[in-house]
Amino acid sequence: MFDVVIIGCGVTGAATAYYLSKYDIKTAVLEAENDVAMGATKANSAVMHAGYDPKNGSLMARLNVRGSMLAKEICAKLDVPYRQVGSLVIAFDEKEDIHLRQLYENGVKNGVENLKILSGAETLDMEPNLSPYITSSLYAPSAAITSPWEYALAMTETAVKNGVNLYLKTKVEDIKKHGEKWLITTNKGDFEAKYVINAAGINAQKIHETVNPKRFETQISRGEYYLLDKSEGNTVNHIIFQCPTQKGKGVLVLPTVHGNLLVGPNADIITDSTDTANTMDGMEFIGNMARKSVPHINLKQSIRNFAGLRSNTDQNDFIIEWAQPGFMNLAGIKSPGLTAAAAIGEYAVEMLKNAGVRLTEKENFTDSRKKLRFRELTAEEKQNVIEQNPAYGRIICRCETITEGEIIDACHSVIPPCSIDGVKRRTNAGMGRCQGGFCGPRVMEILCRKLNISPLEITQDGENSIILTGYTKQGGDGNDIQSI
Ligand SMILES: Cc1cc2nc3c(=O)[nH]c(=O)nc-3n(C[C@H](O)[C@H](O)[C@H](O)COP(=O)(O)OP(=O)(O)OC[C@H]3O[C@@H](n4cnc5c(N)ncnc54)[C@H](O)[C@@H]3O)c2cc1C
Repeated sequence: MFDVVIIGCGVTGAATAYYLSKYDIKTAVLEAENDVAMGATKANSAVMHAGYDPKNGSLMARLNVRGSMLAKEICAKLDVPYRQVGSLVIAFDEKEDIHLRQLYENGVKNGVENLKILSGAETLDMEPNLSPYITSSLYAPSAAITSPWEYALAMTETAVKNGVNLYLKTKVEDIKKHGEKWLITTNKGDFEAKYVINAAGINAQKIHETVNPKRFETQISRGEYYLLDKSEGNTVNHIIFQCPTQKGKGVLVLPTVHGNLLVGPNADIITDSTDTANTMDGMEFIGNMARKSVPHINLKQSIRNFAGLRSNTDQNDFIIEWAQPGFMNLAGIKSPGLTAAAAIGEYAVEMLKNAGVRLTEKENFTDSRKKLRFRELTAEEKQNVIEQNPAYGRIICRCETITEGEIIDACHSVIPPCSIDGVKRRTNAGMGRCQGGFCGPRVMEILCRKLNISPLEITQDGENSIILTGYTKQGGDGNDIQSI
């Protein structure tokens, strides 16, 4: 029996668990996938938006601005990559100049600090690789970039360290009300809770409708991306937006915290909630739009394409509410959901308090986290850590300089990885130009050793992404395995 069960461990569920873990309250997080941050939180633009875009007066506007401030603090405390690079929304004609002015005014009302309208020439001074046809831009120095999955993981790890129970591979199938409590049926058995928080992203409508009448309609929109090699990482130094439209914030060009260049997304309405495929049309559209902002962008240096699914709804705002007493929706968390997440978590806890839940602060709440990142150490520090543990002297991922020691650290962490991409999300091994071609088998070998499982059980990422199917010699000794 839990006081609170949170359904879904994307960044919204993670932030809610993080804030709840400050209190003496029994909390569980149920996540369908084998890891944290496997939905929209894994595949997005990684921007901490300044907050000039959401309509003044909306919940989204308030939580965006507050969330961006909280994210900066949390990333510093929990050792999550975060760079305040600033953003530029660029205009190409008089109509767009007017639109920028409206965004500026909306941003000022929303409380975004230091916004500035720049001329075309001033914009080009800051970003010489942009199109010479730019007429003006909106500069937001508070916008930042982060690593979205590390952000969610760091908050979840901290929550777990502080007593929250995380259940992975636990898919909620049904919910029923039994007197004063909820009975939550999953593929791993039943859970009971006094309060349910629905943070199931794209599945939030389904979860809502298990016990509530229909209230909103999900409209999935797929956003595809190019990730370019580090050789292109300095093409722009700010987050470059085009003027937003009804369909969204448009195609961006931006540096990543890992040193690459990210280009995308489009916004394609789809019905299949599992369809994260990249399409020829989508990639062509993104290429053309990106060339409008950065004419000489070198898309040939693409090292990976991916796509994320937005859980848009027919409502204009985030859906954060008590659907009925004891059942809270954190639904329709579309962009800027990553930015707003911490403020959403904080707000959810406020809602629980206002509903009469007794929240007593823990005296021994641990609110810090530190990771060893070998390649960021000085030569002397590297020498020291290798002397203490020779595993830091063995490079497993050559592209990103990730050591065996860091992968072992991840395996011993509060939420250990169980897939190759789980290791990637925690250490960056496999993020480089060869995309795991070199380190993949070595990562697999370390995972098997540390988790004491067979290579046949290791997946690339989700449940069905098996890499190896069997031994080439039946009854083999484990050294000779066939890959698919
Ligand atoms: C293309 C794209 C670009 C974006 N860019 C930005 C950006 O730059 N900045 C920004 O602020 N925001 C951005 N966003 C929005 C942001 O990514 C999302 O708002 C945020 O990640 C939503 O987090 P979430 O936790 O609500 O949902 P998710 O991350 O989708 O998490 C939901 C979780 O619930 C789990 N779940 C679902 N059903 C069940 C079930 N039945 N039982 C148990 N678990 C379940 C899922 O497995 C998943 O892990 C972007 C989104 C997309 C798609």
